[in-house]
Amino acid sequence: MLPIKERENLRRFTTLRVGGVARYFATPKSREEVIHCLKFSRDRDIPLFVLGGGSNTVLGDVEGLVINTSLLRGTEVRADEESVWVKALSGTPMKELITLGVKMNLEGIYKLLGFPASVGGAVAMNAGAFGVEISDFLEEVEFISWEGELRRAKAWELNFGYRNSPFPQEGFIYAATFRFSPSKVPVAEDYKRIRRKRKKSQPINMPTSGSTFKNPEGDFAGRLLEKVGLKGFRRGNLGFSELHANFMVNYGTAHIEDVKLLIKEAKERVYQETGINLEEEVKLVESSSSDGWKVL
Ligand SMILES: Cc1cc2nc3c(=O)[nH]c(=O)nc-3n(C[C@H](O)[C@H](O)[C@H](O)COP(=O)(O)OP(=O)(O)OC[C@H]3O[C@@H](n4cnc5c(N)ncnc54)[C@H](O)[C@@H]3O)c2cc1C
Repeated sequence: MLPIKERENLRRFTTLRVGGVARYFATPKSREEVIHCLKFSRDRDIPLFVLGGGSNTVLGDVEGLVINTSLLRGTEVRADEESVWVKALSGTPMKELITLGVKMNLEGIYKLLGFPASVGGAVAMNAGAFGVEISDFLEEVEFISWEGELRRAKAWELNFGYRNSPFPQEGFIYAATFRFSPSKVPVAEDYKRIRRKRKKSQPINMPTSGSTFKNPEGDFAGRLLEKVGLKGFRRGNLGFSELHANFMVNYGTAHIEDVKLLIKEAKERVYQETGINLEEEVKLVESSSSDGWKVL
């Protein structure tokens, strides 16, 4: 029987190290245990949140159930002359796919190196970098609908956009199958170039949640934030990195309220000076006891 913990501190589950307390917290190891979690939240009429690597998420108090995918791990690989197929469970770290991509000299996937995402979180966010998005390689998603039914959808049936997908609204991603093409040129050099670039331009050794805002069309959120003087700006324990203005950094024990204030201030300053409305990429998640069942 799956143990469901009570009053779990969420701080260590986000890469920004900002988190309140979850009323309930579960780490399922199988499809059946995920379905049990869904039933648990339905029966109690409380919200639920699916947590992957926590690298795009800021958590407050969650008066509901947080489902952590970290124990749903594993990959299956098969190949023919033209392609390599990889099926990965949702909690598998993206790093495993990227290492495989470099070892097998596969096109594209190695470009998504350098962020601590899970496969499920990367699909849900349609993570992308250096001209590729995870949906470019996606063949099929196996997911559990919020009614508890196992479903499959081909990638072309799903609507992916810039940092956007039908998940988690459609359901809990259980596994994803990708198809990769072998590269005609060695990818290892380009992999190293991107790794060096990330190290130089992003605060990867600090508590951060990556890009705070999406890039507005034709521009870069980082450029706009820098323009209004927010690169390296700090208020208390929270600020925008000196290396990359769009990366929020937690210098101590920042709280979700600090994040809300900083985001509000940044949006106002950018709007006043440029007329551009920045949209959050990072997800701020919290719920109160008056919320009934819903997906956060
Ligand atoms: C240093 C750093 C660099 C980054 N660089 C990039 C970058 O270059 N490009 C980029 O796109 N992102 C980047 N990010 C942001 C982040 O890594 C991505 O958005 C990533 O895809 C989030 O994955 P996660 O597993 O951490 O998701 P989480 O933060 O845990 O969750 C994100 C969303 O996905 C949903 N979700 C997670 N798992 C599932 C599931 N199994 N089923 C349904 N829904 C699910 C959650 O409910 C939530 O809505 C960076 C982050 C950091 C810290």
